[in-house]
Amino acid sequence: MAAELLKIEHLQKSYDSHVVLKNLSLFVDEGEVLVVVGPSGCGKSTLLRCINALEPVQGGRILLRGRDIHENEKNLPKLRQQIGMVFQSYELFPHKNIMDNIILAPIIVQKRKREEARQEAMELLARVGLENRANDFPRQLSGGQKQRVAIVRSLIMHPELLLFDEVTAALDPEMVREVLDVLLDLARQGRTMIIVTHEMQFARAVADRVVFLDKGKIVEESAPEAFFSRPQTERARRFLDTFSFETVRKSG
Ligand code: ADP
Ligand code: MG
Repeated sequence: MAAELLKIEHLQKSYDSHVVLKNLSLFVDEGEVLVVVGPSGCGKSTLLRCINALEPVQGGRILLRGRDIHENEKNLPKLRQQIGMVFQSYELFPHKNIMDNIILAPIIVQKRKREEARQEAMELLARVGLENRANDFPRQLSGGQKQRVAIVRSLIMHPELLLFDEVTAALDPEMVREVLDVLLDLARQGRTMIIVTHEMQFARAVADRVVFLDKGKIVEESAPEAFFSRPQTERARRFLDTFSFETVRKSG
């Protein structure tokens, strides 16, 4: 049996009086790909932000290898290195070239040698098909290329857990594939990931397990085949129906 990497127990998160995550419990095993889907506003981004300790929580615990990530503020920088997060907006520094964007954190935060970091950056860039863009600036890259750089920037820190928050949502359709292929490649390498996405075919292909979130609660949790072919709840069925409608509409 695989070891449990992340365990969330009875997580409670609110903004003022607005409760966003309600008594949410969840685990992710080492090497597992968990896909989180759900309607807009159901709490997907908030969940990822809590896991990455970008948000304080009002109850419950988030354990990474058994250690509570909110217990000790001093551990936060170290923790952030163990958890990588990629956002919808790439958040690259516009005035730094691609190489410098990638090696900034390994050099400053992890105190690594510039040459060693550069070498790994080049290997990772090659892996995502961008080995010849190291000297370019973000504005010279397409959205899909920028997002691949953002993924490399996360990977170079050697995180144990990767969080992806709708990383293709801002991309033109023709660039979605190139980014999803990188995520599929990471899954094949056995990376532990939590992926929030609205790309349902991709979700089905990449997921080991799917969680359906609605109004801050886990409504369904199942194997991808079961979730997409035989959703158990009316809410999940309605949610999935909107996607097949969109597919029909796009191709029609
Ligand atoms: P999702 O990512 O599933 O679309 P979010 O996690 O972004 O949903 O948001 C969940 C709920 O929390 C929404 O009702 C949203 O308005 C609210 N929310 C998110 N961030 C904040 C914030 N910083 N302050 C207040 N409310 C927030
Ligand atoms: Mg979101």
